[in-house]
Amino acid sequence: MSSKRIAILGAGMSGAGTAILAQKQGIEAFVSDAGKIKEEYKQLFSEHGIHWEEGRHTTEEILSADEVVKSPGIPDSAPIVQKLVQKGIPVLSELEFAKRYSHGKTICVTGSNGKTTTTTLIHYIMQRAGLDVGLAGNIGNSYARQVAEGDHDWYVIEVSSFQLDNMFDFRADIAVLMNITPDHLDRYDFYLQNYVDSKMRIIQNQREEDHFVYWKQDEHIDTELIKRLSCGYAPQPTLSSQPARGGHPTMCPFVDEDFERLRLEFSQMGQHNKRNALAAYIATKLAGIDEGLIMQCLKDFPGVEHRLERVTEKAGVLYINDSKATNVDACHVALVAMERPTVLIVGGLDKGNDYATITPLVREKCVGLVYLGADNKKLHEAFDGLGLPVADTHTMKDCVEACAQMAKEGDTVLLSPCCASFDLFENMEDRGEQFKTLVKAL
Ligand code: ADP
Repeated sequence: MSSKRIAILGAGMSGAGTAILAQKQGIEAFVSDAGKIKEEYKQLFSEHGIHWEEGRHTTEEILSADEVVKSPGIPDSAPIVQKLVQKGIPVLSELEFAKRYSHGKTICVTGSNGKTTTTTLIHYIMQRAGLDVGLAGNIGNSYARQVAEGDHDWYVIEVSSFQLDNMFDFRADIAVLMNITPDHLDRYDFYLQNYVDSKMRIIQNQREEDHFVYWKQDEHIDTELIKRLSCGYAPQPTLSSQPARGGHPTMCPFVDEDFERLRLEFSQMGQHNKRNALAAYIATKLAGIDEGLIMQCLKDFPGVEHRLERVTEKAGVLYINDSKATNVDACHVALVAMERPTVLIVGGLDKGNDYATITPLVREKCVGLVYLGADNKKLHEAFDGLGLPVADTHTMKDCVEACAQMAKEGDTVLLSPCCASFDLFENMEDRGEQFKTLVKAL
């Protein structure tokens, strides 16, 4: 379907990109944001003659559109979205809209964890191979804006479940599904199957010539495939890439053991990163990239900021910034990856954490704990009983000083806080930046 007039809900990066693309295609766009719109976007809209409003959603304007493109941050339960659904007006994601106007092939990466790392790695390999490739989705620039301002031959797109929910005709040439673990259940009526169904939409519309790369050891994916691809599909042996049957994409599953079997080496630490490397290896091979180059890129990949990022070594102590670890699971995989005695920095805004799941690992790997939060009471209750040296801090400056005192030569200091950052920092990036700056100044 092609619209004459679209309304865009949410004027962030993806909304702004959608408006620019719509206008370029001769479609009238109206941008509506219930909050405040950034000055740079207001300026962009006025330069392009695009109408906008902020601080409200004017129902008549929005309900008179042929289609609506919604920011993934706006839930389906929002009153304006409910009204659109009642009136039968299609509500799309930016990706769905932009794909209509792009000639580029897409590699789409989704999953509960590992999306950003895998997407960035695939993009890195494709760029080094000299391909004309854009980075889009939850990461990089808006897909729609790139399509508007100079379409690419390839896009590597990080796709969240919120985006998948509003994708209908979209088709990925190569779909990658890293894993499915409970997340964002508040947006899925607290029903895991709804979230699982959302993630599985990554393979919707795929054809025989397309590929589906996935981690076979995940608890859910194989079962879901059997349900969905019932006409003759059986889970494939690993890395077999057997030809597709009955109109389904070629299945390209992988297991952890493939990493050693293929003799891969990856610059990033941790078992979870081996999975990310495997997914990227398979996806880029499918995109036609030389295997030797892929192997070299895996060794050279500089990593992604705030994810098990090596900051520096000072007085024989290695400092690692994993500020992105805002839940207990992420801290768990980080601790598993630690090879030296570890001083762990933990704390922040706790969203109902159960620390019992990491207590055995803390006992095994840690030689000290530094609490960093506005309120550290729950941390004292959870960990003081282990008998490790403990420091109680409320600023990054005090925290880094405590770490430097506590850690001995040969130790690692790991910032992997299990918590959100908003009690003391602007966001997780700010927390990681402050950590890095202070550590480098030691
Ligand atoms: P996402 O974009 O899905 O949040 P990231 O690549 O940003 O994923 O990684 C976020 C955190 O998730 C990492 O710090 C790490 O703790 C964990 N993680 C990364 N990759 C995986 C994986 N393949 N399996 C499980 N956990 C992972």
